[in-house]
Amino acid sequence: MSKNWKPATQLVHAGTQRSQFGETSEALYLTQGFVYESAEAAEARFNGEEEGYVYSRYANPTVSMFEERMCALEGAEAALGTASGMGAISAALMCQVKAGDHVVSARALFGSCRWVVEKLMPQYGVESTLVDGTDLEAWKAAIRPNTKILFLESPTNPTLELVDVAAVAQLAKEIDAKLVVDNVFATPLYQKPLELGADIVVYSATKHIDGQGRCLGGVVLSSEEWIKESLFDYFRHTGPSLSPFNAWVLLKGLETLPLRVAQQTANATRLADQLADASHVKRIIYPGRDDHPQADIAKKQMSAGSTLVAFELEGGKPAAFAFENALEIVKVSNNLGDAKSLITHPATTTHKNLSDEDRAELGISDGMMRLSCGLEDTDDLMGDIAKALELSSKV
Ligand SMILES: *Cc1c(COP(=O)(O)O)cnc(C)c1O
Repeated sequence: MSKNWKPATQLVHAGTQRSQFGETSEALYLTQGFVYESAEAAEARFNGEEEGYVYSRYANPTVSMFEERMCALEGAEAALGTASGMGAISAALMCQVKAGDHVVSARALFGSCRWVVEKLMPQYGVESTLVDGTDLEAWKAAIRPNTKILFLESPTNPTLELVDVAAVAQLAKEIDAKLVVDNVFATPLYQKPLELGADIVVYSATKHIDGQGRCLGGVVLSSEEWIKESLFDYFRHTGPSLSPFNAWVLLKGLETLPLRVAQQTANATRLADQLADASHVKRIIYPGRDDHPQADIAKKQMSAGSTLVAFELEGGKPAAFAFENALEIVKVSNNLGDAKSLITHPATTTHKNLSDEDRAELGISDGMMRLSCGLEDTDDLMGDIAKALELSSKV
């Protein structure tokens, strides 16, 4: 497999392992186990003297193809596919800590990630500190002698705030901690955390990688050494494994990822401009616009904006609900990265479990909405948004 191939080529070909039948499309190995030529062969396989598959909780050929294709895209040495994004993130965090360790995390996180850091880890004696991820001094101040992991997501959900990945990676190196980056919102096409100095990258493949709303999946990518030494035993004995069927769907998703993300980004760019021009839109947050509060960081670490747009309407919850209810093409849903455009009101859905203060701290007001742009025709989407803007302005 050529390392010099550009992403679009890698995403169609990388990792393909053809069976003796020479099939064009990737084979789906829907099997739990594997049989051996002899008792001696089984012994050799278990001793690690002979390469090969043993049990699909550890590894499976279709899952391996997905992992290899993700490695080629990310520029990573090794990867493990998981059953969901949270399977990837919880395994990447929990596998490398023990009681007495400390984790520092940006506080603007996907809800379940925040639960793992804030609630689950302390139950096992791992202390955590949440900081404003955009403030490098806050990261520094939170460091302790026992800090083992720094964790962040950029752009963040749902306010599309950016964290300077290279700066936090530098800090992690200085204190010999590992930086874990949840790169879902940037997609593997627009941001390369490993090149920016991160140690581990995690994805919910449920989002842009499937991109057509079908199945859950996730992946952890890092150095071969870290995957082998830190993650593999945890992974194979706790079982967050990706199903071969879902791996096969995700492989097909990867083939069209650049086309889909490009169209979603083109739609997001146009819709962000349309929303910015509307009189009762208080604030628009899009990393591809010059008025993003951290446009300099966007230019430094991202090669394009995002497929998501966040915005705030005057008129709070009533206006936001009127806007959502007026939409015909854009569907009300908390998912993202789908072929279908989806909109969510974080304050009453994904972030409703946070206290009022925590929500205020994150900038999630009652008028804020998050729009995930899909693959529909741009003019149709703009017509849908125009109608919703008009109706919600009368509330
Ligand atoms: C969706 C998402 C997750 C969780 O992924 P699942 O596949 O739903 O488990 C984690 N982080 C971010 C940023 C996400 O958007």
